[in-house]
Amino acid sequence: MGKKELAALFSSNPDRYYKVSLFDKMGFTRKKCNRCEKFFWTLDIARDFCPDHENYGFIGKPPTNKRLDYVNAWKETEKFFRANDHKIVRRYPVVCRWREDLYFTIASIVDFQRVIGNQVVFELPANPLVVPQMCLRFNDIENVGLSGRHYTGFCMIGQTCNADAPGGYWKDKCIDLDFGMLTKGLGIRAEDITFVEDVWMGAGAFGYSLEYFVRGLELGNAVFTEFEGNENDYRVMPNKIIDMGAGLERFSWITMGTPTSYDCCFGPVVGKLVDMTGTDTDQEVLTRYFESVSLKLDNKTGGSSSSIRDLKLLIAKEMNISEEQLSAFVAPYEAIYTISDHIRTLVFAISDGALPSNVGGGYNLRVILRRALSILERLGWKNTIRVEDIAELHIDYLRQMYPELEDHRQDVKTILQLEASRYSSSRERMNSVAMSLKSSKKAKELTVDDLIRLYESDGITPDFLMEQGIVQNVPSTFYTKLAELHTSQVSSQSSKPIAGLEDLPPTKLLYYQDESIHHFHAKVLKVVEGKYIVLDQTAFYPRGGGQEPDTGEIEGVKVVEVTKQADVVVHKIEGGGGRIPAEEQTVHGTVNGRRRDLITKHHTATHVLNSASRNALGSWVWQNSAFKEETYGRLDITHHSTLTREEVKKIERMANWVIRENHPVIIKTYDRGDAEQQFSFRIYQGGIVPTSNVRIVNINGWDIEACGGTHVKSTGEIGLVKIVKSERIQDGVVRLEFVAGEAAVSYMQQLDSQLASIAQALGSSREKVVESFDKAMQDAEATKKKLRAMLRVVSVPIAKSISEQAKKLDSGIHLYTTYDEELDDDYHIAIGEKAIELDKHLVYLALVSKGQGIRVIVFAGEAACKKVKASAIAKQVSSKLGGSGGGDNRFGQGGGKSKDRIREALLLAEEVAR
Ligand SMILES: [Zn+2]
Ligand SMILES: [Zn+2]
Repeated sequence: MGKKELAALFSSNPDRYYKVSLFDKMGFTRKKCNRCEKFFWTLDIARDFCPDHENYGFIGKPPTNKRLDYVNAWKETEKFFRANDHKIVRRYPVVCRWREDLYFTIASIVDFQRVIGNQVVFELPANPLVVPQMCLRFNDIENVGLSGRHYTGFCMIGQTCNADAPGGYWKDKCIDLDFGMLTKGLGIRAEDITFVEDVWMGAGAFGYSLEYFVRGLELGNAVFTEFEGNENDYRVMPNKIIDMGAGLERFSWITMGTPTSYDCCFGPVVGKLVDMTGTDTDQEVLTRYFESVSLKLDNKTGGSSSSIRDLKLLIAKEMNISEEQLSAFVAPYEAIYTISDHIRTLVFAISDGALPSNVGGGYNLRVILRRALSILERLGWKNTIRVEDIAELHIDYLRQMYPELEDHRQDVKTILQLEASRYSSSRERMNSVAMSLKSSKKAKELTVDDLIRLYESDGITPDFLMEQGIVQNVPSTFYTKLAELHTSQVSSQSSKPIAGLEDLPPTKLLYYQDESIHHFHAKVLKVVEGKYIVLDQTAFYPRGGGQEPDTGEIEGVKVVEVTKQADVVVHKIEGGGGRIPAEEQTVHGTVNGRRRDLITKHHTATHVLNSASRNALGSWVWQNSAFKEETYGRLDITHHSTLTREEVKKIERMANWVIRENHPVIIKTYDRGDAEQQFSFRIYQGGIVPTSNVRIVNINGWDIEACGGTHVKSTGEIGLVKIVKSERIQDGVVRLEFVAGEAAVSYMQQLDSQLASIAQALGSSREKVVESFDKAMQDAEATKKKLRAMLRVVSVPIAKSISEQAKKLDSGIHLYTTYDEELDDDYHIAIGEKAIELDKHLVYLALVSKGQGIRVIVFAGEAACKKVKASAIAKQVSSKLGGSGGGDNRFGQGGGKSKDRIREALLLAEEVAR
């Protein structure tokens, strides 16, 4: 049974599923659409089709006397639901840190969905509640700014409740409230409201829904999630969920009746951009155009870009102007709408810690930013408006509703500036690609796949190609395809499970009870293949969360690896021979305490460094991944650029300050929802937690993370942390390698002894080593200079004698070959150059011993190189020596490693010269 059959099933029993008390009370009648056969409820006796086939009848004549801009539309909604006993919850981040399968929050209900095992569960922080949830979606980018209603970022008003928990309600009250919101809150007449029957199917749960429309515009959809399972095998959920989602952009638009929803939803931003750009268009033409687009754009298909183009043709005809004239009129407005949307989305994403990049969710962010920059360039506005200024305008307006944006104003500006300057520096390369495309015939035949390749390899957006006049329009499927390539995260790989452990009870984890337990007794529950042992309880920490496993012994047999499979800890043993413990036997386990201690210090140091990095660099810093072992730790953080030495030092200083302050490390288990509310989603540094309880590691407010690893009791135990290396490992990710505790001391000692031996070699002391080194370098430089001068003097007589010594071959070539273990390439280059100057028939070949290998240097005189090229000799000789070489006619070089083939190589050269 698919969605259609399910809809038919629910609609066949409307009294059970769709009829709510409001319909009776108000006298709504149920009708079947005479065009698509959907059922709907209306007060209008004469109406015989559903709102899907209705034009937007509110543009220019809104069905209410209230005029609510975006922020005020929210304030009205908030007021209404608060008065009706709903808790107003602050928005969740647009970066979806709590679901592994989503980069971005795509709907309000996602806020409350958590995955346990393979099941989606609902966790509500209050009941009932309303949340103004910003959602990001990148599947309709090409329509944004053009259609009047598409966005990459929009606010979904989520009215959510658990019907079976205290405070909960079901469909009668839900529709009563929504109807009240529309009539009392927005001031819309009851006669203008239509409810349409529909179904909603999600992962593991589904239900029926009533969508509500006013004058052709869908404002919201109340989903009654009553069943769990799939459509063929389902039961009533013990906790039924109301999930009503309404578009705040639409609430505002219906009351304002502006030609596009952008005109009212970006507050003063559009008007200011119009002023700044000096955009001056006949308002009447503009209004007529966007009204027509809104009226005619097929509601149901969402409108692809080609249909918008078709519409433009049609509308131009109606208005008696050419398509070009019309485009010239509307293009600046389309541009302003598009840019406003894109930058608003970026304001939220960057505030919530995402970075534009080439990977993961950052991908879409860079796409829209580059699109906005490209549009600014195309319209000649790049010197008039900067993207960070647009971001400021948005924040100025939205902070009334989302005060947290103010805290991130500077971070947002920093990232936008940085990305904009990267874009402008990459334009040079983009221009050269564009030039070669223009000159080749291929430009005309560019497919969507070609365009995607151009974006992936050179960062070239179709908007840029439009700007260059290479393509006429952005294919409607481009952004959709691109988004598909980058929407869901790749789930982490899991190793092959060991069979036969399914029925075992969860292992009791002694390391959580008390981390200092290193000796314990336990009963053997299972032995698999003579090498995997499962106990009823264990103090061995299994590999997980980037922390390396413990090692040690069980009954004197070595434990080499410890893993966790579901709730069962598996110990892998090695070299047990005949001493492998038997099932049911009681055994004694010993954890290698020193190793555990070192790993634990590196682990807690990771937390300290992570927060130090965020404090030193910016709020976009999150842990990307981490690895902790005995001798060192590794922390990958999200950051936009390579770290400078100063930044590394700053992080190090902060981290060591936290260590010296000796903060207690408090570990407590919380209900997941409570932890999220109390500490925010910052707790998910190490990824999602797939259980309803989370273990929170709190370094006294400095760093708070959900973490299952082992930790020191207070930061002072770490002793010292030293960053040994920092490296940008991929776009948007920087790796810090560090040592902590005793490993840090050993590292310092090692550095110290290296320094001591350098000092000794320089005949200096540690204190004066830099001074002595500088002097030694100066001496070496002076010596080189002297040598070069000497070489100039002696090169003439040496070159003469070489010419005399050279073999005079029948080919007319004078060949000189030598193998040198003493003099270096500088010498042979100087001599070779001089020699072919004096003897135009000369070929000079020197093989110079260099460390493990041989360097090949070839010169050919003006006459000689007409017969044989220096590059050819270098190539053949090098290849004989097991390497490679090349060059030009006059000079060739190369090298190889086979010192045993020097004679052969010299003979080969002679052969070639003959
Ligand atoms: Zn219909
Ligand atoms: Zn941890």
